[in-house]
Amino acid sequence: MKNTPLSIRETMFAQNADKQLFEQAKSYAFAYMDEVNQRRVFPADQAIQKLTVFDEPLPDTPQLAAEILELLDEVGSPATVAQTGGRYFGFVNGNTVPAAVAARWLSDSWDQNPALYVISPTVAKLEQVCEGWVRDLLGLPSETVAGFVSGTSIATMCGLAAARYTILKNQGWDVNADGLFGAPPIRVVASQQAHGTVFKALALLGLGRNRVELVPTDAQGRLDVAYLPKLDANTLVILQAGNVNSGSFDDFQTICPLAQSAGAWVHIDGAFGLWAAASPTKQYLTKGIEMADSWSVDGHKTLNTPYDCGIILCRHRDALVASMQATGSYIQYSENRDSMLYTPDMSRRARAVELWVTLRFLGRSGIAELVDGLCDRASQFAEQLAANGFHILNDVVFNQVLAACDTPEETKATLAAIQASGECWCGGTNWQDKPAIRISVCSWATTEEDVDRSVQAFINARSIL
Ligand SMILES: *Cc1c(COP(=O)(O)O)cnc(C)c1O
Repeated sequence: MKNTPLSIRETMFAQNADKQLFEQAKSYAFAYMDEVNQRRVFPADQAIQKLTVFDEPLPDTPQLAAEILELLDEVGSPATVAQTGGRYFGFVNGNTVPAAVAARWLSDSWDQNPALYVISPTVAKLEQVCEGWVRDLLGLPSETVAGFVSGTSIATMCGLAAARYTILKNQGWDVNADGLFGAPPIRVVASQQAHGTVFKALALLGLGRNRVELVPTDAQGRLDVAYLPKLDANTLVILQAGNVNSGSFDDFQTICPLAQSAGAWVHIDGAFGLWAAASPTKQYLTKGIEMADSWSVDGHKTLNTPYDCGIILCRHRDALVASMQATGSYIQYSENRDSMLYTPDMSRRARAVELWVTLRFLGRSGIAELVDGLCDRASQFAEQLAANGFHILNDVVFNQVLAACDTPEETKATLAAIQASGECWCGGTNWQDKPAIRISVCSWATTEEDVDRSVQAFINARSIL
């Protein structure tokens, strides 16, 4: 038989048929899972330098897929940050529950696009179920609808877009048709410590960063109600469930009724903190959130779904749908859930699959146990650090701890030594104008022993100065 090379299509049919590539990827993934907790948490310089291997010209011809996977594992994997281990405390990066990763592998092989019901009835159904479950877990009003987006940044943008639409509509202005030029002004009220993505969303929506009426915060970074300006029906109020540094929660019970009686729109950025509502012991932190108009939250932080899981929740379906509206002669909406009505994007991945699996795997009590576990490890961290001469700068009410040494210089040098140690990883921040070490306990895999070992890494880092 003549030995003609396979066409690229024949090659791919063969890859799907013999499954070897998938077995290969699975074996790398399993090896990664087995050793992640023995790795340096932040990769070694040597591993990072080796990434230059990827700086090559685009190949002129097809390459061997098995060799590509091998290269990815050999060069890419050692330079990953070991955040699925138990000693990564950077940003508010969650881990992933194993059931969700497994389901994602399956769902990736389906390659569904949830834009419209007719493109994926399965994902439309799972989104509808997740919408109800999340609404229920967080104690939000029964009319609340959900859109599944990439993260809280986009979820916040959606909530603020719905607010913009509604506030202007109430003044007889159609922002979708006529834009913002010449529109009546919208007031925006937010705390001085609103998350950077809130200001980004305001900028994207033409509401401007510098027009915001910034309200001073108290010692924990909560909006100080004493400085809240008088609200009216042209006002958008942006509150926070979980300050990104201290983990503190705004006083929803006081502010939401004020906003409600003034006819203002309240959006709550609850990227990681909104899940407090799902824990009987932490629920007190979110009292009053049900009086807001829209909420943004992540699955990929506290809930530990894989990345790419943000949720916009809005109690005014019409406002959200009007703000996300897209038309085209070929887009035919159905009687069922057409997901693109609730999101800025049309085509996207079926991210609700992992959310559904995570919620169903954990169940109500498992979610509470997960949230409480993160908070307990954070408290343990704070207590042990304090016992070893570190200063704890915040009231540890959730999963965030801010720590410092005796002087700003010592804090900075200690943080650099912790990061270089590979034992654990924390980021730095500025808290009340001084450098601080920021610890976010956000992984189900963090054990009491991981905290012990990380506290030891802090002590060692300080003593080598
Ligand atoms: C992480 C975070 C965001 C941004 O969320 P992404 O999912 O990264 O887009 C917004 N607000 C707060 C309080 C956060 O912690």
